[in-house]
Amino acid sequence: MSSESDSANKADNSGRRNFLKVGLAGAGVVAAGLGGAIILKRMEGIPHEAFPLSVKETFKPIDQRNQVNIFCGSKKLNDKHPERNKSFNEQLKKENPKGFKPFHFYETRQKFMTGPFRDAPGYGQLDRAVAVAGFSSARQQLGGGSMEAPDSGVSSWQQDMLVKEKYSFDSPADANLRIKSAARVFGALRCGITQQDKRWDYDPMYDASKEKELYWEKDFPFKPKTVIVIMTEMDFHTMATAPSWLMDATVGNAYANAIKIAGQITVFLQQLGYQAVASMNDLGINAPYAAAAGLGEGGRNGQIITPKFGPRVRMSKVYTDLEDVAYDKPRTFGVASFCKNCKRCAVSCPSQAITHDDPTWGPEYSKDPDYIWNASHGILKFHNDAKKCAKFWIDNDGSCGNCIAACPYNKPDFWHHRLVDAQNVIAPGAVHAFMREMDILFGYGEVGNPDKARKFWKMGKEV
Ligand code: SF4
Ligand code: SF4
Repeated sequence: MSSESDSANKADNSGRRNFLKVGLAGAGVVAAGLGGAIILKRMEGIPHEAFPLSVKETFKPIDQRNQVNIFCGSKKLNDKHPERNKSFNEQLKKENPKGFKPFHFYETRQKFMTGPFRDAPGYGQLDRAVAVAGFSSARQQLGGGSMEAPDSGVSSWQQDMLVKEKYSFDSPADANLRIKSAARVFGALRCGITQQDKRWDYDPMYDASKEKELYWEKDFPFKPKTVIVIMTEMDFHTMATAPSWLMDATVGNAYANAIKIAGQITVFLQQLGYQAVASMNDLGINAPYAAAAGLGEGGRNGQIITPKFGPRVRMSKVYTDLEDVAYDKPRTFGVASFCKNCKRCAVSCPSQAITHDDPTWGPEYSKDPDYIWNASHGILKFHNDAKKCAKFWIDNDGSCGNCIAACPYNKPDFWHHRLVDAQNVIAPGAVHAFMREMDILFGYGEVGNPDKARKFWKMGKEV
């Protein structure tokens, strides 16, 4: 593009931005007139009694051996299920006969993050170093184990800090507040409390490093009653470098913070006489637990979308036998209807793993049971192909995050973003297209831009 057309575009964009700012300022006055306090409250979500997604009675908990990251890390499971690698390769070949390269979930994953540096911003030695360093603390806390490994490091099933004397909270609401107050001081962005729900727990669980199944009744140290969900924030500017290697610096760091807080809440509860186990991506699926605990809604990208931070969060949880605690209610704030029209994550997904369709009761991308071995059935949601996502990460030699960076809910906390969020809650259908287009005009959610990686390495001036 010529510098003249560059300047023309910049002027054009700047004009449109000014127009939008003026428009939004006007809308702000209207919104204020509508009653700011009510709007702000609705932005945080409308509470519901029931779980926000429809689930059939036939829905079965997921066997952790069928979880893609576990399968990628297990030689035993790959040897046992050659049909899974075969069917995945057949699908890849059908979709891209010319560019097809054989893929093996376990063998290819072994080389992850060991490939050569590339001559591109975000893919050099500095970028790999900060990504590996970002993950190092979480790995140390988990005793070298993966995020999916049960009973490892801080997420040990031992009850080493359990005291005999049981503390009595004044009331269930008091228990809820005390736990959240502790989570706040340890650094949680958000914390929600819900009852344990077998539908979201892996059954059986699987430790790929030991190639071992684990069972709730036989192996887990107690009968869990409650799950406390903890959220931490990922850095906006680092996420914006997606899908570069840099992005992993904030993913790893947010994981480290999340497991640290879960470990501290675990000790807090054990010191009050309640059994507790910290959990990262093991034991159960974080997203439905977070939705049940009122922390957000499930989005098209398969992640939890939170008020203010969108999907730019990581989660951990604590399972405990504390029962006499008030549970938070699920809340909705318009994500389900917004996702129907938005699709920015699906468009930005380099592996076409994210569906462009409306929610369904099961995956529509294949009917072959050898291909959809890891899918869930009987839950009305956006069903995405996690295998394709895993393949892109391995091919990229780092993870990705495009579906987080591209999401219009992923924003720094500027007033005009919150205003648009508010309008989305008040008049959902009417503003979806406006909000999505405004996001693009303001330059948010763009992925694969090398300037974002260049900017990252200049931001040290701010500290
Ligand atoms: S992380 Fe990347 S590859 Fe995976 S679903 Fe999101 S956008 Fe697609
Ligand atoms: S990018 Fe759009 S469609 Fe995807 S999760 Fe975010 S709001 Fe939903």
